Amino acid sequence: MELDSLYQEVILDHYKHPLHKGLSDEKSVQVHHVNPSCGDEITLNLIFEGDVVQDVTWDGVGCSISQASASIMSDLVHGKSVEQAFLALDAFSELMSSKGSIKGDDAILEDGVALAGVSKFPARVKCALLGWMAFKDAALQAREKEQK
Ligand code: ZN
Repeated sequence: MELDSLYQEVILDHYKHPLHKGLSDEKSVQVHHVNPSCGDEITLNLIFEGDVVQDVTWDGVGCSISQASASIMSDLVHGKSVEQAFLALDAFSELMSSKGSIKGDDAILEDGVALAGVSKFPARVKCALLGWMAFKDAALQAREKEQK
């Protein structure tokens, strides 16, 4: 897999020094997602205050793409409203399904644009999406809980 070398560095840096890794004791909701095709796993804890993602922590194992992407995602959604986080999530999903045709908006996706090249490798897209799908699941579960 060949990625732009600058982007490769961003990914490796997140992989080696993941942000928000290490699960919090407290949580509003916890989810565990796996990507069986690669063996990636992630557990995600979210704490909401109203509609804001007050804290996000995670733990996981797997390939560099999945773990770096979880780190990037966690830093991106931290402190944001669920609505803002979902906008980033939509933008990232669009980027991952673009097969390399778009670069992504770094104003929305921040370091997430570093994963743009992954969209050219369908087998790895699931790795990159794992953490983001876990976030979506957790946020929806939290919203459901609140409505009960
Ligand atoms: Zn993977």
